[in-house]
Amino acid sequence: MSLKIPFDNSFARLPGAFFTAQDPQPVAAPYLVIFNEDLARIMGIAPGEAEEMAAVFSGNRVPEGAAPLAQLYSGHQFGQYNPQLGDGRAVLLGEVVGTDGRRRDIQLKGSGRTPYSRGGDGRAWLGPVLREYVVSEAMHALGIPTTRALAAVETGEPVHRQEGALPGAVLTRVAASHLRVGSFQVFAARGDLESLKRLTGYAIDRHYPQAEGPMGLLRAVCAAQARLVAQWMSVGFIHGVMNTDNCAISGETIDYGPCAFLDVFHPQTVFSSIDRYGRYAYDRQAEMAVWNLAQLATALIQQIEDREAAVEEATEIVHAMPGAIEAEWLRLFRVKLALSDAQAGDQALIEDLLRRMAANQADFTNTFRALGSAVARDQFTDPAAYDGWEAAWRARRQGLGEAAPLIAAANPAFIPRNHRLEQMIEAAVSGDYAPFHRMNAVLATPYEDQPEAEDLTRPPLPDEVVEATFCG
Ligand code: AMP
Ligand code: MG
Ligand code: MG
Repeated sequence: MSLKIPFDNSFARLPGAFFTAQDPQPVAAPYLVIFNEDLARIMGIAPGEAEEMAAVFSGNRVPEGAAPLAQLYSGHQFGQYNPQLGDGRAVLLGEVVGTDGRRRDIQLKGSGRTPYSRGGDGRAWLGPVLREYVVSEAMHALGIPTTRALAAVETGEPVHRQEGALPGAVLTRVAASHLRVGSFQVFAARGDLESLKRLTGYAIDRHYPQAEGPMGLLRAVCAAQARLVAQWMSVGFIHGVMNTDNCAISGETIDYGPCAFLDVFHPQTVFSSIDRYGRYAYDRQAEMAVWNLAQLATALIQQIEDREAAVEEATEIVHAMPGAIEAEWLRLFRVKLALSDAQAGDQALIEDLLRRMAANQADFTNTFRALGSAVARDQFTDPAAYDGWEAAWRARRQGLGEAAPLIAAANPAFIPRNHRLEQMIEAAVSGDYAPFHRMNAVLATPYEDQPEAEDLTRPPLPDEVVEATFCG
């Protein structure tokens, strides 16, 4: 049995200005931690022996048909424009078209230095690799557009971080593409209109074939990102680094760094250790998505000759985004509240619940999952605050039938809780992968009750609370 990846590379055929050909850097002693067979099947990949897969997914062996390269992009990081970023610790092996007809990138992340590494070592340590594996697969199971994880490999080499020497690892990431807002910004900023036009055409063909021209592309990406950010909010997800280089043209969640799910609901929550001013707090994500798309608009406009008309159209498109996010947010929270019709007071009812949750230290996931039951009121420091809201909700739901099955279908029981991720990483570093595999298994069906995994629904105890998350 030999690993077969049916590569069909389109990005590698674009002009050289878009990337640098770059092989992954070999590692000392690769060990295959996990291979995602379900995803491989959809992608039409035939698995091989563990040893061969460890060699390929560590970067030690370039598989047949791959055309490894590091992509160029730039981006705004925390509001500051950085003219050159690019894949500093990743290489794109190539693309495959799956049995579902979808084209996907296969990228090794943590695969060594590239021309875009700047001061970095090009590597990743095991913690963030396992975190991205678990969280991205959990997001997929929650029904949220996301990059996915095909494999994780330990390199057998140490990686040096502030914490000291840590085990190195490589993640194989799968994405609809790795095109970002920053992929366009870099050519706009350089005044390379030929590349900008070429990339615009490529993105339209690959992601939004119905879109017409740069403004059609902008419209499509705005719509996809509006849906995405509303979905994040509906599950209590905080991305943590919504820089324009981490904002995917496809509308997938990308670059799981210091991301986290809320436990206790508080709208201003920030976990990321590098987000010192709360730019990317839970409740600022909609605004930040709009800001990012305004940067895409600015970049795309450069290629349009009738500049005045383009500015007008782009402004109209970007200005429509907050309303689109709010509409999607309202739709999703209506479903979470088992409101199968729409009424005028719904937004106020939802906001009232969220306000009461914030004032009462209520766990976001467990409260929504238990709406209508005694377990929900137990989430509130003052259960009467919940009771008052529940009465209004029941009155609103007159004639809508039983809530419980709708609530269970729309509100997950399981999310990858931060303290569990930390415990999982700690175990893996000491050689115990059982918690990692267990989290993957449980989070694959997050809307199902799983009594044997009750412990994974528990919010952190005071001494388990994770205050800050790191990039790795
Ligand atoms: P991000 O964390 O995704 O916002 O990364 C920002 C930029 O830093 C990207 O260009 C990454 O490729 C690069 N980068 C992050 N970590 C490393 C590393 N360890 N070595 C080299 N480049 C890195
Ligand atoms: Mg080049
Ligand atoms: Mg990034």
